[in-house]
Amino acid sequence: MITGGCHCGAIRYQAEGEALTHALCHCTDCRRHAGAPMVGWTMYPQDVVKVTRGTPRVYVSSDHGRRHFCPDCGTGLFYTNEEILPGMIDIQSATYDDPDSAPARAHIQVAERISWMERAHELPAFERYPPQE
Ligand SMILES: [Zn+2]
Ligand SMILES: [Zn+2]
Repeated sequence: MITGGCHCGAIRYQAEGEALTHALCHCTDCRRHAGAPMVGWTMYPQDVVKVTRGTPRVYVSSDHGRRHFCPDCGTGLFYTNEEILPGMIDIQSATYDDPDSAPARAHIQVAERISWMERAHELPAFERYPPQE
């Protein structure tokens, strides 16, 4: 069982069992909706995922794509698509209470990836911030 929720806590959810997939999506829709270079998604059958607090708002992001987010703080939470993924729900894995518990397994939609993201793991890294000169 995993649990998670949005930044402000108005929306909480739980999911039973193991995710079917966990992918880092680089598509333009995910990037623009999240305002982030990529978005991590775990996929579950819809009947094992329950919203336990609050009601997400649903944004129609494409013909059949539906993005569910917190109406108070804006955190993106779920994606459903009854055309491409009937009966399934994707959860934004960075909203897990313990995001270390389920590592990502693949990068997807890299055809739309921001070019510099391909080598982002090679950038200088700092425990907090770069030293001030
Ligand atoms: Zn919220
Ligand atoms: Zn995407």
